[in-house]
Amino acid sequence: MTRPTVVISLDLEFSWGSFDLSYSDELLKMGRWTHDIGAPNLLKHLTRNGLSATWAIVGAMMRRSLPDVSGMPEVRYPHFPKPWFSYIPKDGDEQTHPEWFGASLVEMIRNATPEQEIGFHSFSHVPFGERGMTRERAIAEYRYCAQIAQELKIPKSSFVFRAIPLRILRSFAMPGSPVFAMSIGCRCGFRTACSTPSP
Ligand SMILES: [Zn+2]
Repeated sequence: MTRPTVVISLDLEFSWGSFDLSYSDELLKMGRWTHDIGAPNLLKHLTRNGLSATWAIVGAMMRRSLPDVSGMPEVRYPHFPKPWFSYIPKDGDEQTHPEWFGASLVEMIRNATPEQEIGFHSFSHVPFGERGMTRERAIAEYRYCAQIAQELKIPKSSFVFRAIPLRILRSFAMPGSPVFAMSIGCRCGFRTACSTPSP
């Protein structure tokens, strides 16, 4: 008889999760709380109970600070017409802005027992399949994640991109659509690419 299996998949995103939907002090506070308290506690609960999870982490927050994003093709969404990195502290790092960066947390997750899987929740949490997304940006999101995987010596595994389920079907023909994102994911060496409810 096949034993039942439960997969625990967590999105870890701090303030990247919804700054485009609502940017406020509350959001930053929530991001800081996740960094300092929420995620470390969750990791403790998992390890104490002998559980492994897949942590889909926004690539840009895996580092101590933002890499050079000047070469990244811009996106302009109807719901967020500003440049995508408008709110991200360009000169900040994990110490000054823990609501945006979590390198030490990634390290904690990597060193945990039992082993936790580290995946990517895209590079900068742009919604795929939405009007405003481009093929060039989708490719760049994968490439930046591949670069971070190499830099941090993390195996390229899962890539969980953000999409709104109800819009997935009608967005198949759009630039950066889920189907396109998945095929690029395969070419960039990621084992899986799947959609997730927004944010
Ligand atoms: Zn998300």
